[in-house]
Amino acid sequence: MKLFTLIAALSLTCAAQTSYAARPITDIKLAFDEQRPRQIKVEVKWQAQSSILHMADWGAEQFPDGWAHFVKDLSVTDTQNKALIVNFNGKDQWQTSATPGQQLTLRYTVDMSHDQHAWPHGLDEAAYVKEDAIFSTGQALFVVPKDAESFKVSFDLPKTWKSSTPWPKENHSYKVESYDALVSNVMMVGRHHEMVFKEGDFAVTVAVGQARRASVPMIEKVMRPAIREYVRLFGGVPKNNYLVTLHEGLTDGGGFDSSYSLLASEDFHQGNIIEWGHLVTHETLHMWNGTGMHPDANLEWVKEGFSEYYTFLTLYKLGIIDDQLLSKKFENHSRRVFAHRDGTALIDTVKNKQKYWDFMYGGGAIMALVLDHEIRQATSGKKTLENVMHRLFSQYNGKSFNLEQFIAVVNETAGKDLTPLFQRYVIGKEKPDMKAAFAQLGFELVPTTTREIYLIDQANGKSLRRKWVGLKN
Ligand SMILES: [Zn+2]
Repeated sequence: MKLFTLIAALSLTCAAQTSYAARPITDIKLAFDEQRPRQIKVEVKWQAQSSILHMADWGAEQFPDGWAHFVKDLSVTDTQNKALIVNFNGKDQWQTSATPGQQLTLRYTVDMSHDQHAWPHGLDEAAYVKEDAIFSTGQALFVVPKDAESFKVSFDLPKTWKSSTPWPKENHSYKVESYDALVSNVMMVGRHHEMVFKEGDFAVTVAVGQARRASVPMIEKVMRPAIREYVRLFGGVPKNNYLVTLHEGLTDGGGFDSSYSLLASEDFHQGNIIEWGHLVTHETLHMWNGTGMHPDANLEWVKEGFSEYYTFLTLYKLGIIDDQLLSKKFENHSRRVFAHRDGTALIDTVKNKQKYWDFMYGGGAIMALVLDHEIRQATSGKKTLENVMHRLFSQYNGKSFNLEQFIAVVNETAGKDLTPLFQRYVIGKEKPDMKAAFAQLGFELVPTTTREIYLIDQANGKSLRRKWVGLKN
C-alpha cells in the first residue's frame, strides 16, 4: 500500500513537471523611461494558440473600457514584422487574426494616468506615479494571450532604478507561474527604498517610497516579530516570496495574491501605532489566513474576524499594545456584536460586505474568542484555537476550505461536537454569550441599557491575559 502510494505520488510529480515543461512561456518586457515616467512601453512575445488577447475584467468598473482605458497604441506583428488584424471589443479583449503556432509580438503603451481619476477602492488597488516610484497592480499593466498561464517578466530600467515584485527572480527576470499571480499582484519600480525580512525560506520584501522613508524602522519593529509569531502560530510559511509596498497617500490598504499595498497620509511613528500597527499586522496575517489558505465565501467572517482576533493577541503578545489598549479593542468589537440589530446572520454578512463590515469583523473576532474559550474548556486548557489555525494551515495551505471542513477541524481539536455553536451564532441569528469568554481574559463584560458596552479589568486580569497568549507570568 505504501509503495503504491509512493509510486502514485511519483508519477503525479512527473506528470506535473512534464506538463509544466510543455507549457509555453509568454515573455513580457516592461520598459521605463526616467523622462516619461507616465509611459510604460510593454512588449509581449509568445507562440500563438488562442487568437484572443485580454486584460483583467475586474477592478476598473468605472470605465466602460475597464483597464484598457489606459492602453494606447496596441499592435501585434509576426516574425516578418507584418501587422495582424486586431479588433478591440470595447472592454477587455482583443480578437486578432493569429493562427496557432505563429510567433508573435504584441506592443502597447500604458498611460500611467490612473491617479488623475477617482478610484472607489483607492489608488492602492490601481496605480500611481510619484517622484521616486511608480506603483502598479498587474491588472493595470498586462495584456496577454487568453490561454497564457506561465510568464517571464523582465524590466528595462534607468540605471539607478530597481524593481520590487512578489515573484521569484531567475537570472534577470521574474518567473510568474499563473495568470492570477501575474495580474493579482502589485509592484513598485523606481528609486524607492527596499528591505527584505527573511524567516527561514520565507522572504518578505518591503518597498517604501522616499516620502515614507521615516516609517521604515517602525515597519521593521512590527513586521519582523509579527512574521516570526505567525510562522509559529500557523506552523509554516505560505509562499516563499511576498511583497509589501508603502507610499504617501490617503491611508488605505489592499491585499493581493502574494502582495499587499499600503498608502499612508503620515509617517508611521510610536504615537500613531494604534492605527498603522493594526493595519500592518492584520494585512500580514492575511498572507496565511486569506491568501495562503482560503476560507471560502461562507467563511469571510473567519478570514476577517479571526485575523482581527490574532492581530489583537499578537500586538499584545509582542508588547506593541498594552492591557488598556487590548481592552479597548475588544470593547469596540464586542460593541459591534451588541449593536448589530437587523438580524443578519454572521454567515450572510458576506452578501453585503460594505454594509455589514462592522459586524463581520467584530462578530468574527468575538466568535474566535468564544471558540477559543470553548476549546480550552473542553480540553482542560490542553488545546486552544491556535491548534485549529495550525491544523487548518497544514491541511489547506494553497487550497480553500468550507464551513463543514472548518467545523470538522474545530470539533476534532476540541474533542467535542461544537456544531451547535455554529448553528446558533453563525448560521443562526443568536448572539454569543461573550461574558464567560471575557472572564477568562480577565475582563468583566458590562453592557448598559444605553447600548454601551464596557470591559472592566479584573484583579488578576493581566496574569490571565498573559497566560491566554502564552506568555510567562
Ligand atoms: Zn482583512
